[in-house]
Amino acid sequence: TVKGIRYKHVAVYSEEFDRRMIHDEQTKRAIESALANDEIIPFFQPKVDIKTGRLTGAEALARWRRSDGQLVPPGEFIPVCERTGLVVALDLKIFEKTLEFLAAQMKKQVRTLPVSVNFSRAHFMTANFIDKLTDRLRKYSVPPELIEVELTETDFIADKDMVGKFIEELHANGLAIAMDDFGSGYSSLNMLKDIPIDVLKIDQGFLREDTDSERQRAIFAAIAQMASKLQIKIVVEGVETLENVEMMREYGCFIAQGYYYAKPMDRAAFEKLLEVGKICPEK
Ligand code: C2E
Ligand code: MG
Ligand code: MG
Ligand code: MG
Repeated sequence: TVKGIRYKHVAVYSEEFDRRMIHDEQTKRAIESALANDEIIPFFQPKVDIKTGRLTGAEALARWRRSDGQLVPPGEFIPVCERTGLVVALDLKIFEKTLEFLAAQMKKQVRTLPVSVNFSRAHFMTANFIDKLTDRLRKYSVPPELIEVELTETDFIADKDMVGKFIEELHANGLAIAMDDFGSGYSSLNMLKDIPIDVLKIDQGFLREDTDSERQRAIFAAIAQMASKLQIKIVVEGVETLENVEMMREYGCFIAQGYYYAKPMDRAAFEKLLEVGKICPEK
């Protein structure tokens, strides 16, 4: 009967749901102890000025390195963090370890470049989000100019008024704001007029090979034009090939982040790279 089929359908769905809940619950506990044992660390992926090859900064990306040195793929723990609320603790851990790194760089009196850190919108629902950031900046004596807060495009759209209020406060404290994964959601270029962001990170989806190149170019041209009018810096994500770089050049987008230049790397490797200061991939 119809009733029976429906019941069966619901039962199957709920079994899957239960399995996921149990899996999340177990993974959550494992991540909690990984956080406590300093197994969750930032890797740094360089951002590069394509005109000169010089580093302009980096993005801190969460990695789970087990005590035996094995890396857990980000896709296996970051989504669980997002579903269970643990992402708030994760972000703060990556932020704190990034500050530790920046403070050490400043002490060495070597060139220090700004690092961007990802923050989930879950922070907006917690108490004293901004205080938590400024307290930690003070603790490590790192000037806010060295930190860029990355928020994802879809989070901007979810609650524009609330996000606007946070951006205002972050700016008042000297922090720059980057809109991450731009173009992956349903925002319009027009939205940029109302939101005072500093950096636009163009989603790597735009550079995928299966995207029609005419379309790619039209979108790039429009974004580049809008960003330059509004004096927003553009970072292009997922730059993997020389062709990607050439297209960027054509539209006046000059900061790249992607495998063409470098994959995310651990702190020691990034420190070495900073001493060199530039990356020039073989042509
Ligand atoms: P995202 O913030 O957009 O970070 C960029 C992602 O693109 C990174 O993946 C990076 O490794 C990858 N990527 C960089 N260049 C290339 C390229 O040339 N080709 C390809 N195919 N991929 C490239 P990752 O590290 O796996 O992180 C995935 C996502 O997980 C991040 O996307 C971000 O949304 C989230 N995430 C990572 N770390 C954190 C964190 O500390 N906190 C929060 N809330 N989210 C994080
Ligand atoms: Mg990001
Ligand atoms: Mg992101
Ligand atoms: Mg992104």
